[in-house]
Amino acid sequence: MKQHEMKIPYCTFRPLEQELGSEIRTAFERVLENSRYIAGQEGTEFEQRFAEYCGCSFCIGVGNGLDALTLILRAMGIGQGDEVIVPANTFIATALAVSRTGAKPVLVEPGIETFNIDADKIETAVTERTRAIIPVHLYGQACDMDVIMRIAREHNLKVVEDCAQAHGATYKNRKVGTFGDAAAFSFYPGKNLGALGDAGAVVTDDRELSECVRALGNYGSDYKYHHIYRGYNSRLDELQAAFLSAKLSHLEKMNAERRRIAGKYLNGIRSERVILPIIPEYTNPVWHIFAVRCMERDRLETYLNENGIGTNKHYPIPIHLQECYKDLGYRKGDFPIAETISRTELSIPLYYGMTDAETDYVIDVINRFE
Ligand SMILES: *Cc1c(COP(=O)(O)O)cnc(C)c1O
Repeated sequence: MKQHEMKIPYCTFRPLEQELGSEIRTAFERVLENSRYIAGQEGTEFEQRFAEYCGCSFCIGVGNGLDALTLILRAMGIGQGDEVIVPANTFIATALAVSRTGAKPVLVEPGIETFNIDADKIETAVTERTRAIIPVHLYGQACDMDVIMRIAREHNLKVVEDCAQAHGATYKNRKVGTFGDAAAFSFYPGKNLGALGDAGAVVTDDRELSECVRALGNYGSDYKYHHIYRGYNSRLDELQAAFLSAKLSHLEKMNAERRRIAGKYLNGIRSERVILPIIPEYTNPVWHIFAVRCMERDRLETYLNENGIGTNKHYPIPIHLQECYKDLGYRKGDFPIAETISRTELSIPLYYGMTDAETDYVIDVINRFE
């Protein structure tokens, strides 16, 4: 173990907690005072504010991001016998949501430079069973939505945006979540907008879909003890909604800070061994993750860890090689680009409140990687 000057975690909530602690405590006190914990004013208020933030007509708070995706697909009537296109490089939840409805996830390769679904490869995956595409704005960077929406229109497919990593990211100056038929957000604590526990939301401009999602998340009930669907229990509770409202007011500032840190990395990292992310001009990312690539990824990881720098991998095992998806019949080599990313991607520290001394140290250590 080397002696290191600094200890930098991959992620920490400490600076945020220090800055927003009193607002969060006030939110807690308010909920306690109101003595209402499910389906009250806090939830309604947050939903209105988040819809407005995204630029959508409707927002429905739900239990988490996986549920948000699942409820949208179910509300679209997608299930057994259907296929849904998902990127081969994403968090497992995107595929699991499809499986939960009974439909089959069909994987499509990412681009090696953007890490996002390669829009030009979507069409070859379309069959007569395909019902929808789920573009994932991975690491906080928007997918090429013009191409995806054109393919969807041509083949009469629904588009469900997975915005779990992209709160506030834009495509051609318009926020993600406003392009498809509906979008799913996660407020898992580590996301750009995070609750103090699990939470999620669906946004859409489609009133009918929004009403169906709302009913599905509330036992399939449109009014009390009347059940139109065999639904779920997936609701945003008052406490999390109150916390989220407090944090939403700071989201733009937090995203701006992430962009500033990412900018420092992009300008400062000069190692020939490290491949920096490429940002197409159509997107202004929110840097949920700063993903570099390195042919000797594991050696870089050990080197950074030994120098006190925390790292992460997104994601070390691609979906088609996961045990739970053995029955899809995919084999090693079926998605070479996704596999290359899983072998070469390394995520470096990026969190709100990261100091210049910390980012400079990370840059310096990476640039000294032999
Ligand atoms: C986090 C995440 C999800 C799932 O969100 P949860 O709130 O953890 O259920 C879905 N998709 C992507 C891309 C994610 O990063």
